Amino acid sequence: MAKTQTETPMMKQYLEIKEQYPDAFLFYRLGDFYEMFNEDAVKGAQLLELTLTTRNKKSKNPIPMCGVPHHAVQNYIDILIDKGYKVAICEQMEDPKLAKGMVKREVIQLVTPGTNIDMRTGEAGENNYLTALHEQDGKYGFAYADLSTGELRCSILEDDDSLLNEMISLKTKEIVIDESVSEKTVEKIKKLRVLVSSQESVEPASELSYAVQDVESDLEKEVLNHLLTYVKKTQKRTLAHLQKAVHYEPAYFLKLDRYAKQNLELLQNARTGKKSGTLLWLLDETKTAMGARLLKQWISRPLINPAQIKERQLIVNDQLEHYFERSSLQDELKQVYDIERLAGRIAFGNVNGRDLIQLKTSLAHVPQIRYVLEELNEHGIYDGILARLDPVEDVFELLDRSIDEEPPISVTEGGVIKPGYNEELDKYTDAMKNGKQWLAELEASEREKTGIHNLKIGFNRVFGYYIEVSKANVAKLPEGRYERKQTLVNAERFITPELKEKEALILGAESKTFELEYRLFVEVREKVKKQIERLQKLAAAIAELDCLQSFASVSEDNHFVCPTLVSDSHDLEIKAGWHPVVERVLGKQSYVPNDVSMPEGRDILLITGPNMSGKSTYMRQLALTVIMAQIGCFVPAKEAKMPIFDQIFTRIGAADDLISGESTFMVEMKETNEALQNASKNSLLLFDEIGRGTATYDGMALAQAIIEYVHDNVQAKTLFSTHYHELTVLDEELEHLENIHVGAVEKNGELVFLHKMKKGPADRSYGIHVAKLAGMPEKLLERADVILKKLESTSETHAETQKTTKTEPIEELSVSEGDVQLSLFKEPAEKKESTKTGRKQSKIVSEL
Ligand code: ADP
Repeated sequence: MAKTQTETPMMKQYLEIKEQYPDAFLFYRLGDFYEMFNEDAVKGAQLLELTLTTRNKKSKNPIPMCGVPHHAVQNYIDILIDKGYKVAICEQMEDPKLAKGMVKREVIQLVTPGTNIDMRTGEAGENNYLTALHEQDGKYGFAYADLSTGELRCSILEDDDSLLNEMISLKTKEIVIDESVSEKTVEKIKKLRVLVSSQESVEPASELSYAVQDVESDLEKEVLNHLLTYVKKTQKRTLAHLQKAVHYEPAYFLKLDRYAKQNLELLQNARTGKKSGTLLWLLDETKTAMGARLLKQWISRPLINPAQIKERQLIVNDQLEHYFERSSLQDELKQVYDIERLAGRIAFGNVNGRDLIQLKTSLAHVPQIRYVLEELNEHGIYDGILARLDPVEDVFELLDRSIDEEPPISVTEGGVIKPGYNEELDKYTDAMKNGKQWLAELEASEREKTGIHNLKIGFNRVFGYYIEVSKANVAKLPEGRYERKQTLVNAERFITPELKEKEALILGAESKTFELEYRLFVEVREKVKKQIERLQKLAAAIAELDCLQSFASVSEDNHFVCPTLVSDSHDLEIKAGWHPVVERVLGKQSYVPNDVSMPEGRDILLITGPNMSGKSTYMRQLALTVIMAQIGCFVPAKEAKMPIFDQIFTRIGAADDLISGESTFMVEMKETNEALQNASKNSLLLFDEIGRGTATYDGMALAQAIIEYVHDNVQAKTLFSTHYHELTVLDEELEHLENIHVGAVEKNGELVFLHKMKKGPADRSYGIHVAKLAGMPEKLLERADVILKKLESTSETHAETQKTTKTEPIEELSVSEGDVQLSLFKEPAEKKESTKTGRKQSKIVSEL
């Protein structure tokens, strides 16, 4: 920065501080404003829509400047943070009136996207995760923290894909790295629009080292130390609520790759980016902010451990069966505030009386929640929750005794502490309130003692309180006690030691009350702070209960059933299942339920049918059903039996990958490859129209090869939808594959999709049917038919395909209203014996 601008001591100080925060906006406190100068001012004025002015206008190099009022500063900080910038808040460290020379200033906090926890409310259901990364031997030490809740976790990730998956599912806005992280990885991270902050050094012996205590791996320790050093450096305040780091294994959970998360619209609507229309939106009947946050975590990480799933199912079932108890729990939960975040703010020291009252109110409901659960706990299913549901009575009692029920926002202007809590404080408040009364009493007793009837007590600014006696009566005053202060024309004014003492009490009472109340408030806050771990544990138990009651409510409202999860076979049998979100949007009447039948030995369903007939809805429906089952919720079906899946891979939809900027087809191939490489026999694969992004034969060849590969090598449960009718003959030789198709009927000259899945392949001349329905000339249709036949006959597969795809004459397709039996599609062809030998010569690949 140009030193020519440092003419004034203030600018010198500014530049010195700014030098330490080159990548942040420096908010420099100047009286009632935070000012920005130079480049910060130019950019800040633009981003925050502020008026740009200049300091020392007359000089050759006027300094650009803009400012924001101190009382509204948080709004401006939030705007900059939202846009991915950092803000260093520089405060005056001494009273400008008392300062000798330049007022001392210091940066008291560096606010960054991953550490902004003082933000506006309304984001209660969101975690704000700060992540960190350390690379070693091709592996990543990965850690994340939410400073508002104190959550701290770490893991080791094997590759870039797992890293990007974790970052996307945590929706992190900032990652802390050091020089170990390669340029290539940084580039990838930047494409996620995540702010990359570097923290090279670590501070091992910090007061936060307890947080790393239980971590075993050096790689995780390393990354945690970087993270904690960064947190300490930016926050510059106590972080006592940070919990001990917990190691987690992404493999403990059902793995959902990032495509699956996006495609299935678990947390975010693919079109709007909002919650509406997502699985989260459907399942969220939580009553607390803590529950809402946990639900998101659960949906992002479904379980794979049958015992853990069972535990949740039992509670959901019990909640479902006990409607009254559940609604009473809901009533209690509604009155529980965000204990987890309150605990965080208590640690940071930025709570006021109202926050502590919120904490007290929340704690007040815990005994009732416990009571309801204990009543329900006949079979011990609530043992786990009850063990953590600590009413923290000591804190409740302390708050109940100390904090006023309706405290003001400020903690320095009195009114926070309850009467009766502290004797000294009571004396002051008494003095303040009763001052006037006391003076009146003193006046009366002085009159009586002296016999001077016109003696009066008065007050002026110079002498304070005084006793005024008319000149005529002065002689009646006894010696000694009365000290003369002022002589007027007709009267004399005196003070007494007693009066002085009371005066000090009355006048000092107000400021003393404020001071003492603040001191007592801080004492209470610090006492509560010691119990933060218990509060956090309680918060976690409440969050869990809240999620489970939410599952029960949603399952009841939507008539979900409890799925049977089988661990000893690959039987998947869903009767009359539905896509819970689409059904909710369309309405129960309009949605056609479908079975999914994939018993042991039937791994691949090849789905044919026209566009818009419901193929991808059917696939998503299965994936959502699996996810719901594995988070412990009931599922949208009449009956459901399924194995526990280890991973879900999806290739649905054709969105370009914004992260890598690659073409649709390339993305499609990459996603497919990821599935083929990583899927196991216990995975679920959803492939929608693979190969359509390239030339017909090219695509068809790939599609067939992929199906064969899955069939022979992966053997995972797979739904594969396709336009390529030619593929339907595959069922002849792939014994674990079955054709299904979506039915449709002609109704009043229009083609109506029945959205009903039926066995067998779809009718291939479907396109010509549609053209006919569209009213195309008969001649044209006949011609199209001829061309089709010709094309078929040129194909070497002609003989084979004809066997299975005989086209019904269009004239026969007259369907009466509501008749769902008749379809434009032929009945399923009988499944042929699998003939492995014919395989190599048949099919499109070999035809070309
Ligand atoms: P495809 O993948 O075959 O092109 P989609 O799965 O996208 O078709 O479905 C198209 C539309 O049909 C969906 O937007 C939905 O509104 C409707 N739909 C799909 N399945 C059903 C169903 N089972 N019942 C009622 N409507 C459905």
